[in-house]
Amino acid sequence: MPNRLHHTAAALAHALFCTEQDADRRTEARYPTQDPAELQVLPCPSEPIYGTILDVSRSGMRAALPKRLDRGQQVRVQLHNNVIFGEVRYCRAVSGVFHIGIRIQEVVRPAQPENEHIADDPLSLYAVGKGLSVPEVIQVREHLVRCEACRTRLAQREALLNPSRRARPGRPLV
Ligand SMILES: [Zn+2]
Repeated sequence: MPNRLHHTAAALAHALFCTEQDADRRTEARYPTQDPAELQVLPCPSEPIYGTILDVSRSGMRAALPKRLDRGQQVRVQLHNNVIFGEVRYCRAVSGVFHIGIRIQEVVRPAQPENEHIADDPLSLYAVGKGLSVPEVIQVREHLVRCEACRTRLAQREALLNPSRRARPGRPLV
């Protein structure tokens, strides 16, 4: 599959060029979640599909659903108070359920203060790679992309929390 090849090549290029950049690499890695989600295939209204978000990557997320979706379908994902619009990239049958890859196109979230740095607690949870909800992961990543101060804080925290992980080569990429 060309897509998969492209994906692998991108991951390889990333591994070659970004080995020194811990914080950057972290934004590429999948962040595991277990958030319940309600999906609707657009155009709404349609039957809601109840599933679980398994992980979030930089530009997408993976959902486990009881129902097959088709590549290219537009979906609306309700998560806590957030709504995410995205496009189905793939659908795989995995032990009785379907794993759906969704490319995130738009995140609609409740109004919140802009320009606030990431608080210590969510930054720590991000560094250890578990404990944040899907919208929180997305929010932290969006902030990290545009805030060098928080990238530095994250790198320091990672060094503190995971001294061995830093030294371990070949951390799996997306
Ligand atoms: Zn910041």
